Amino acid sequence: MPKALELIPKLLARTRSPFIEEARTSAMMLCKLILENNLEIIDPKTNKKENTVSFIRRSIINSKYPGTCHICGLKWKIGEEMAWKKGLSSICLICYKREVMRG
Ligand SMILES: [Zn+2]
Repeated sequence: MPKALELIPKLLARTRSPFIEEARTSAMMLCKLILENNLEIIDPKTNKKENTVSFIRRSIINSKYPGTCHICGLKWKIGEEMAWKKGLSSICLICYKREVMRG
């Protein structure tokens, strides 16, 4: 966990990289860290954490098949990470992070 907390500000800075691949990879790694460590997302305006959760919890897995995010259309290859839930269409980590942050 301390390692994750150290990495997050660095990754966050890199998501603003002018190099799209670096920005994308950093965003993916950031989502993964937040989700894997069960970090709480606090709204800096209200300083309150959400206590109602309406999003569907998904597993972050390495895809066995090439696929497409059903929200944004982002494609992933075999072995790339995506958010999975049995019986639902898979979505990319960026869309999953958005759902998690919205609560
Ligand atoms: Zn997506």
